[in-house]
Amino acid sequence: MLSATEIKQMLDALPLPVFAKASDHTWIYGNEAFVDLIGIADFIGRDDTSLFDEEQIDVFWREDDLVFSGQTSTSFEEIGEGTFALTRKFPITLEDGKPGLIGVIIEAVASPEDLRKMRLEHKTAQETNNLLLSQLQSKADDHAKQYEKRLRDLERDRENAQSLAQTDPLTKVGNRLGFQADLQLLSKRYDETFGSFTLAYIDLDDFKHINDTFGHRMGDRVLCQVADRLKSIGDIFSVSRLGGDEFAVLLECDGQSTQQVEGQLKRMADHVFRPVTEFKRDVDASGSLGLTRYPFDTKNLSELKHYADLALMKAKNAGKGHIRIFEASDYADDLRLRQLEAGLRTAIEQGQISAVYQPIFDAREGRIQGVEVLARWTHPDLGPILPDEFILIAGRLGLLVHLDQIVLRRACTELAEFIENGSIDYFSVNASPSDVASLGYARNLLDILEECKVDPGSVLIEIIETAVMEKSRTARSNLEELSAAGIKIALDDFGSGYANYRTLLDLPVNVLKVDRSLINTINERPHLIDFLVSIIHMAKALGASTVCEGIATEEEKILAETLGFDALQGFLLSRPVSLAPLRKAIQRQEEGPVLDREPVRKTG
Ligand code: C2E
Ligand code: CA
Ligand code: CA
Repeated sequence: MLSATEIKQMLDALPLPVFAKASDHTWIYGNEAFVDLIGIADFIGRDDTSLFDEEQIDVFWREDDLVFSGQTSTSFEEIGEGTFALTRKFPITLEDGKPGLIGVIIEAVASPEDLRKMRLEHKTAQETNNLLLSQLQSKADDHAKQYEKRLRDLERDRENAQSLAQTDPLTKVGNRLGFQADLQLLSKRYDETFGSFTLAYIDLDDFKHINDTFGHRMGDRVLCQVADRLKSIGDIFSVSRLGGDEFAVLLECDGQSTQQVEGQLKRMADHVFRPVTEFKRDVDASGSLGLTRYPFDTKNLSELKHYADLALMKAKNAGKGHIRIFEASDYADDLRLRQLEAGLRTAIEQGQISAVYQPIFDAREGRIQGVEVLARWTHPDLGPILPDEFILIAGRLGLLVHLDQIVLRRACTELAEFIENGSIDYFSVNASPSDVASLGYARNLLDILEECKVDPGSVLIEIIETAVMEKSRTARSNLEELSAAGIKIALDDFGSGYANYRTLLDLPVNVLKVDRSLINTINERPHLIDFLVSIIHMAKALGASTVCEGIATEEEKILAETLGFDALQGFLLSRPVSLAPLRKAIQRQEEGPVLDREPVRKTG
């Protein structure tokens, strides 16, 4: 806040005379410049009557009254002998609430000559101002025009850049960015009209195969053809390539039922997924399609994309050329899968995988000759999960090697007593083909055995034979390393479809574990007996022993024994059990005759 003295100092510093009057025309203030101008010092509290003549007072008071009524006034009046002043007066309200005025003498001149000059200057200045103003105006117009053009150019450049940034250079349809923009545009439009549209994700089947077999140029041509065909379909709002061989299509389908939309997409698929002829060759271009509907499935665009993805995944899982509409259960499945993935990751990190043991019996003596170690996992919320499910997930997460190591360590610790005292000859652990094909697999496994002080001669590795195994040099050298260290190798699920007999000659195989589907379906397919006999013969020729898996009935047991299997395994003889019941079964076997004994019943 400024003090009254400071305000006074400021006003006194002004070169312009400033004064103030109350509504009864008495002077209440005048700054130094004002005092200089009128040449009277003690004017405060007096009114004009003691200072000016009647004629002047008339003029002053007329102007004053105008200002007291709230208006502003400007006047050119004689204020003394030959002195004229250009004065502006402004209304103010005084402390007592009554009107007052503040006056500023903008220009004071001493003679009529000066006055004329001043008026002239004023006029010239005004004219000059007007001229300048009009020049400025026309310049501003020019600038405005140039500016508008520049804006239009910029807008065009921006649009070009945007469309370039949103276009896939190969197929000339939208890219991921373009898709995102189209999706937002369409959802906004349909929000306004309360309409609906379909988002379909398309994935070409076996595209990698096309690239590998026919080359990338052909692969590119297939992508372009598919994009062109998609573009040529009416009702399609936009086509985008999201990357690789994946496309997204936005379809306007207002007022259509889900069946109608599905029909529409089937027709689209028929049109698009036809062979592509390029470079004088025909290439099959089929694809899978997953779709979801806005706003029925969701109004959230991220969710919408996720749902289309889930539907596409289901379509692909169903085989080639499938169309799949998103269902709420897909979301639940996906949620469960994520829950399982997160849970399994933690469980493997914290070693929370347990093992159960399924005895393998000597076919002639009925003695437990070994046990198969099987992994078990219980999700904290979802309960026990089947190995078939979590082994697959661990494989996808790249954690199967770790899981198998946990299981192996557990088996080494828990089974050491039986191995050491010779109650059983071996235990067998499962290994996935990808484990075996990974660098350092054999070394790690042997290190664990050494650490746990388990003789490699009492360990058997069960592997499922696949094409990958045949091709992989690493897999072969791992198996050779293990074999050289004394570990035995079993081919698991033998005869279930993958087997290639050359493998038997090329890999160090000690045991064939015949898949349970063979013995389980023998009643429906009697010719399988011949098949089983030939497997046993072949095993003999190779010096490998045979295990018949999955014996669940007395009939199957008798058949397996008669056919000459070396060992038997199955629920009839024993389910997989935890350590305590296994120990009991082994103790019982050591106490008495083993043939035709009560089977081990407890489940693990
Ligand atoms: P697998 O190696 O063929 O193991 C035998 C599976 O058949 C076990 O299922 C066992 O419980 C089941 N089985 C045994 N006898 C019978 C029978 O008489 N009838 C029927 N219906 N089933 C019988 P499980 O424990 O559910 O394991 C499933 C698969 O998961 C295993 O098949 C194996 O491929 C994999 N697996 C289990 N544990 C591990 C592990 O620690 N590591 C790896 N890599 N895979 C494992
Ligand atoms: Ca097995
Ligand atoms: Ca098996």
